[in-house]
Amino acid sequence: MQLIITAGHNRKDPGAVYAGRNEAEETIWLRNAVTQSLRERGAQVWNDNDAWDLSQTITEIRKISQPGDIICDFHFNAGGPTATGCEVFVADDANATELALAKSLVDTIASTLIIRNRGVKRERDSQHKKLGMMRPPGLNVLVEVCFISNKYDMQQYDTFFDLLVEEMTNVLASKF
Ligand SMILES: [Zn+2]
Repeated sequence: MQLIITAGHNRKDPGAVYAGRNEAEETIWLRNAVTQSLRERGAQVWNDNDAWDLSQTITEIRKISQPGDIICDFHFNAGGPTATGCEVFVADDANATELALAKSLVDTIASTLIIRNRGVKRERDSQHKKLGMMRPPGLNVLVEVCFISNKYDMQQYDTFFDLLVEEMTNVLASKF
């Protein structure tokens, strides 16, 4: 089993941008930290390349992923000034293992950052209705860590970053 940990967005598509921070850079930073932490535990981790766009990332994952692999894509949410919290997306036809993994991740992130728990959501409830990252074989979860547009969320994220990496590593390296 390998862990496929990817950073949402890329150099051409920075994703959400707010107060001088952009989603693509934040997700790379988090992906690298979680990857390093997982590798220190002996986990086999595969990352996307920062030069790839979404379709190339999906193409490359399809070449290597197996049904038992975790495919975890990091994102940050954006919304109005009061929008806050963590949510994790799964496929519309997610299986019990994917749902359990997603719930464990969203519960862990929300409690570690002390932010609202928006729960596990289906891809049909996302703004795009369909999420390409849900398609490659594996246990697919897309994590919206917190709102890059919310000052409190990002303050909590910065304050508890190291703990968050450790707690996410515990979830990703556990029974799944
Ligand atoms: Zn995103």
